[in-house]
Amino acid sequence: MLSALVAAIVGLAVGGAVLLRDPRRSVHVLFATFAFNVAVQRLLHFLGSTQESGSLLRWAAMLAAVSLPATAQRFFRAFLGDEAGPPPMSRITLAGAVVLYLALLSSLFLTTPVHTNQWFYLGLLTYVFLGLYLSVYYLYRRYRRTPSRVEKIRLLYLLIGGLATVTAAALDLVPWMPSLGNILITIYLYFLSQTLVRYRLLDLNELLGRMVVLAALASIATLIFGLLLIKLVDLNEIGLLFLNALIASTAIIIVFEPLRALLERVVNRWMFQEKYELFRRIESLRTDLMNVIDVRDLVPRVLSALEDSRRVTHASMYIVDPDGSAYDLIGHVGPRPEGRIDAVAHRGFLERLRRAGVVSVEGLERELLALRNRQGEEREALLLVVRALELVNGSVVLAILGEEQLLGMLVLRDERLREAYSSEEIELFRSVAASIGVTLQNSQIYERMKERDRLAALGQMAAGLAHEIRNPLGSIKGAAQYLQPVEGQQPEGSTREFLGIIVEEVDRLNKIVSQFLDYARPYRGEQSPLDVNDVVRKTLNLIERERSGSHVEIVMNLLDGLPPVRADAQQLRQVILNLTLNAFDAMPQGGRLQVTTSLRRSTRRGAAAAFLEIRIRDDGIGIPLADLRNLFIPFFTTKEKGTGLGLPISQRIIENHGGTIEVRSQPGSGATFTVLLPVEADAYASYAEARKSVPPGMRKPTSATVSPK
Ligand code: ADP
Repeated sequence: MLSALVAAIVGLAVGGAVLLRDPRRSVHVLFATFAFNVAVQRLLHFLGSTQESGSLLRWAAMLAAVSLPATAQRFFRAFLGDEAGPPPMSRITLAGAVVLYLALLSSLFLTTPVHTNQWFYLGLLTYVFLGLYLSVYYLYRRYRRTPSRVEKIRLLYLLIGGLATVTAAALDLVPWMPSLGNILITIYLYFLSQTLVRYRLLDLNELLGRMVVLAALASIATLIFGLLLIKLVDLNEIGLLFLNALIASTAIIIVFEPLRALLERVVNRWMFQEKYELFRRIESLRTDLMNVIDVRDLVPRVLSALEDSRRVTHASMYIVDPDGSAYDLIGHVGPRPEGRIDAVAHRGFLERLRRAGVVSVEGLERELLALRNRQGEEREALLLVVRALELVNGSVVLAILGEEQLLGMLVLRDERLREAYSSEEIELFRSVAASIGVTLQNSQIYERMKERDRLAALGQMAAGLAHEIRNPLGSIKGAAQYLQPVEGQQPEGSTREFLGIIVEEVDRLNKIVSQFLDYARPYRGEQSPLDVNDVVRKTLNLIERERSGSHVEIVMNLLDGLPPVRADAQQLRQVILNLTLNAFDAMPQGGRLQVTTSLRRSTRRGAAAAFLEIRIRDDGIGIPLADLRNLFIPFFTTKEKGTGLGLPISQRIIENHGGTIEVRSQPGSGATFTVLLPVEADAYASYAEARKSVPPGMRKPTSATVSPK
C-alpha cells in the first residue's frame, strides 16, 4: 500500500518537473494534468484504503479515477499527433465521465449512496480501464503508422510499457495477485516525463539505465519510509504519518540530484561498458587533439579512436577544398564513401549542417514525417539532404566549424545497432568535431582559405585600379606619338629614342592591364562541340613555326576518336598556348615537350560522365614546392619579363568550362600540366557505343612527332 503513496509523490514530482520545464507547451500541461490526476487518485486510494467502503475518501478516490481516461487520452493524443486517435472515441470517454460524475454526486444526497454498490463499482472500474487501454491503443496505432524504423522501435517500448502498466494496475484489484501496479505506474510516469523533456523517444539503453536508477532511488525512499514507520506500528496516527511522508520526500528531494548523478555514473559503468568506454576514449582523444597541429596527424588519430570505441562501424572525415568548391574525403574506416561532395550540388545539406552543427537520419525522418502530406520544395530539399547522407554513408554527420565556416565534416554510422545514437552520444561526438575544428583552424588549410578570401578582395580592388590606369595610358601614348618627329625629318638628339621607349612601355603596360582585366572579368566565351585534338594540333603547329629556333622536340600522342567537348575554340587555344609557351621557357637549352590527349572516367556522381585530358609535359627546370602553391595567383612570376597572368587566366578559362588544371612537378625534372574538360553524358554515351565496335587491338593513339629544328 505504501507503494501507492510513492506513486502519488512521484506523480506529483514528475508532473511538476515537466510543467516547470516549459509551462507554455500544451503537451507539457496535458502531461502534468494527467500525472497530477494519477497522483491525487493514488493518494486518495492510499488514504482511503484503511477506511470502510462508504467513506468520503473512497468516494473521492473514485471521483479522481473517473477523470483518468479523459486526462490520459488528451495527453496521448497531443503527444502522438492527431492521427493517433479518432475524436469520436474521446467524445464517448467524456460522456462516460460525465455520467459517472453525476452518479457519484448523487451519492451525496441519497440515503443509500450509489458508490457503495458493488455493481456500480465494477462498472466504474470497467470504464476506467477500458479508457486507459484506449490510450494504449493510440500508441499502437501510431506505432503501426510511423514509417521511421528508429521511431518505431522506441514507440514499441512505450507501447509495451503502457500495456504492462495498465494491466498490472488492473491485476492489483485481484486480491491474490502480487501488487506491481504502483511500481509500474511510478516507472512509466517517470519514463514518459523523460521522453517529453528530452523531446525525443528514448532508446532501450537509456531507458534501462534510467529505470535502474529510478528503481534504486525508489528503494532508498521506501527504506527511509520503512525506518520511519517502524515505530508507528498502529497506523491510526495519520497526522504523524503525513509528517513522516513530508520528511521522507524532503529527504529524497535533497539527495535526489547528487545521488542520481552518482548512480548514473556507476550504472553506466557497470551496465553499459560500451558507452562508458566511449566516454573515456573520447575524453582522451580530445586531450590528445590539443597537441596536434598537422591535419595528416589528426585524421588517423580521430578515426582510430572512433573505431576502437566500438560504437561506430563507418566513420569518415571530409575537409573543404582549398578553393571551397567541394569537400574531399581525407580518411575513413569501414567501406569507402563518396570521395568528393560538391559544394554547389549539396548546398542545402551543407548549409543545414553549418547552421545546426549536426544532421541525423533520425531527425530528417521526423521532419519528413511532419511534411508527409505536403508536396513541394521543402520536402524536395529535405529528400536531397537525405540523399547526401546516403552518399557519405552516415547516420549522423557533425559539422567541423571554424569562425562560422564549414571547414569539414565528421560522418558516423553503426550498422550493428538498430537504434541510432543517443543524444548524449551525439553531444559527445560534437565535442570531438569541435576539437577538430580548432585544430583545423590552426592548420594550413585554414590559412589557405583566409588567403583565398584576401586575394578575392584584392582582386576586385585591382580590377578597379586597372580600369583607372588604362585611360591615362591611352593619353600618354597618344601624346608621345604626337611629339614623335615625322618620318624624314631630322631626329632631335635622343628625343626620338626616348619617345620610342615611352610608346613601347605604354604598350607593355597596356598588355598587362588588358590581360589582367581578362582575368578579372568572368567570360564564358562561345562554347560549341569541339574536336580537341584538332585545336591542339593547330596550336602546336603555330608554336612550332614561332619558336623554330629552339631545340625543343614536340611529341604529340593524340588519342583517336575522342568524344567532342563543349568549349570555346579561341579560349582553349589560348590555354594550350600559355601552357606550351611556359614549357618552352622552362627548357632554355632545349628538351622534349610531350602533348597527350586521353579520356578519364569520372568518379564523381552527378557531374560529368568523363573528362577529356590534355597533358602537357616538359623536362625543363621544374617548379620548386614553395612556388607550386603560388602558380595560379595573379602576378606570380619568376621571369624577368613575365606578367604572372598566363596560368591564372588559363585556370579561369578552364573553370568556366567546368574543368580543372592539375600540376605535377619536381624541381630539376620537369613539369606536367593536365587540363581536364568535362565530357557531356550524351557525348560520352555515343563514344562508348562507338568504341564497342572497335576491336581492342585497334585502340591506339595516333602519334605525330615534330623533329627538333
Ligand atoms: P608568366 O609566364 O608570365 O611568368 P604564368 O602565370 O604563365 O606567368 O606562370 C607563372 C610562373 O609559373 C612562371 O613564372 C614560372 O615560374 C612557373 N611555371 C609555369 N609553367 C612552368 C613550367 N612548365 N615549368 C617551370 N615553371 C613553370
